[in-house]
Amino acid sequence: MDVGIPRALLYYRYGKFWEKFLAGLGANVVVTRKTDKVLVEKGLGHVSSEVCLPIKILAGHLADLKGRVDAVFLPRIVWLEDHLYACPKMIGIVDIARMMLGNNTKLIAPSLKGNILLPHLIAGLKISPNPIRVIKAFSHARSELSYHTGEPEFRPGEKRVALISHFYNLGDDYVAHPILSTFSNHGYRICTKDELPESILRNRDGFAENIRWVYERELYNAFVYFMDKVDGVCVVMSMGCGPDSLVAEFMRQQAHQHSIPFLQLVIDEHTGEAGLVTRIEAFIDMAERRKSALSAA
Ligand code: SF4
Repeated sequence: MDVGIPRALLYYRYGKFWEKFLAGLGANVVVTRKTDKVLVEKGLGHVSSEVCLPIKILAGHLADLKGRVDAVFLPRIVWLEDHLYACPKMIGIVDIARMMLGNNTKLIAPSLKGNILLPHLIAGLKISPNPIRVIKAFSHARSELSYHTGEPEFRPGEKRVALISHFYNLGDDYVAHPILSTFSNHGYRICTKDELPESILRNRDGFAENIRWVYERELYNAFVYFMDKVDGVCVVMSMGCGPDSLVAEFMRQQAHQHSIPFLQLVIDEHTGEAGLVTRIEAFIDMAERRKSALSAA
């Protein structure tokens, strides 16, 4: 059975786990190619212009799989532990996928509500009827879900920027490449939430307790962790993202109170590379002037 996985959104955190799980069930796993302009344009034709770029990108990958595979595997995270919810658009994409794929491509979309084991086992049985094989495939694949356990190490004197954005933005070269390469070309070490342990990302101390969206809490906790360890903070969010716009505003206020250079980049499918690079270079210039002024004082 050919089972497709769209290389978008949750793929950037759970993709390796899903690939291994499905392969362990005997499926021929087909992962879509890396995002490109053609895929983005395909996605634009299937979702409202109001939705965020990651959902448009996912729609493009889904459209690319339609008719090419027997089934598409697209788990829906509703909530994880501590009743931390995924954003409504992320939850709703499965219904859009159902409409997009039609009747000829099966959709296997386990709903995860706090527990990842049971929904995966039930979904696995749709591919292999052998429950022992499904349990073994899950146990084998589970190692791909591990987080970092330790905190990052910093070298004295290095220039650092905290890049605060969802893993599906920073993992997708089409979205992140101009941002990552501009900071790297200026000699910056880029700190992201992906290098932090789960204990920090899911921490519920202070204001984080009020944030009930799972990935927003991770962003905020990463911001708090890095804030006093970097020369500046750059938040990359998508146009049309309600959760990001709310949490980014709290980050902006906190950065302002601590006099930390703060840049907020809002991206969509029209964002041009030149504009991003110019804004980042102006931010770097400002952060470096501030640093020189502080060390001269
Ligand atoms: S959190 Fe924001 S960017 Fe992510 S899927 Fe939801 S609306 Fe889109």
